[in-house]
Amino acid sequence: MSNKINTYTCPNGHVTVTIRLDEGVTPFMLRCHQKLNEKHNCTEFAKSAFYQCDQSLIPEYEWYKPTDIKKVAKGLREHVKQGGLVLRKHILSKKQVDDILDELKEKVKKQAND
Ligand SMILES: [Zn+2]
Repeated sequence: MSNKINTYTCPNGHVTVTIRLDEGVTPFMLRCHQKLNEKHNCTEFAKSAFYQCDQSLIPEYEWYKPTDIKKVAKGLREHVKQGGLVLRKHILSKKQVDDILDELKEKVKKQAND
């Protein structure tokens, strides 16, 4: 499996974009990570696209293999021992941010020329 970007879509139509950083197992269902409105988080379950999605999407969360099991929440340790990955907020690298900015600048330039 070479695709790394995956989406999870809930019945409310929220899409959560994830990237897989390490080899391991990711769940096919996930509690929706989006907000329902300003006050409440969405409580629906979101379904995996099984990596059959646009691979150029920008991830909001990342799946990683924890290196120190002691730092993993107790409820997740068994899952990690069995090869499961853990989800955390994805932080973009400087290069990724630069690439996104370059792409936006190109778009703006194109629109200005139209
Ligand atoms: Zn949702």
